[in-house]
Amino acid sequence: MLPDCYVCSSCHERFDFKFREAYYYTGAAPADKQIADADLLWVNVRPAWCMDCECVCVAEDIAPLRAFEGAYGAARAGQPVEYPAYTAYMKAPDALRELGDQLRWRMGRRHAARALCCGGLRYQWMDVAQPLLKHAECDFGFIEPRIHIGSGCGRGPGVSSPANIRLYDPEGELIGQLTWRKEDGRIWEIEPMRYPPPVADD
Ligand SMILES: [Zn+2]
Ligand SMILES: [Zn+2]
Repeated sequence: MLPDCYVCSSCHERFDFKFREAYYYTGAAPADKQIADADLLWVNVRPAWCMDCECVCVAEDIAPLRAFEGAYGAARAGQPVEYPAYTAYMKAPDALRELGDQLRWRMGRRHAARALCCGGLRYQWMDVAQPLLKHAECDFGFIEPRIHIGSGCGRGPGVSSPANIRLYDPEGELIGQLTWRKEDGRIWEIEPMRYPPPVADD
């Protein structure tokens, strides 16, 4: 689970996630204005610090292929799995379909796991005990997670306010943002979005 935010232990500067959830678009047609919920595939993420954007972000958590094969095998045997999808509360056919889709995606995936803020590879995991991430401007500050219990449960994103969920192609290239849920959740409206152009090094 992602913390709510990160805070510097010395100067108390706060670092928020710009977004926390993401999906791959697996549809055959180009993603344009509206896409079907059935063409979305859950992106597994972990909290990271992007050294290029200097921000807290989510980065793709892509296990080796054998983990996906193992999960698919477990689902076929009727056992629940937690990765690449949490299936404890799914009906057996739904779990099998989800894990089959994840396995198909993993077999096709070529690009290394990216930081989803900019698509870059220069990031550091934030959910490991060591090393602590030092706040660059602070002598004694470390960037630490904060978790607030009891943030509200509503009708889910995209119903009464636009969702803040990013959409990627299967290689982790940013293509859009999910905004509004329509037709009982079967359709998502999307806005096109691209990664920021890379910053020159000099
Ligand atoms: Zn600080
Ligand atoms: Zn970045």
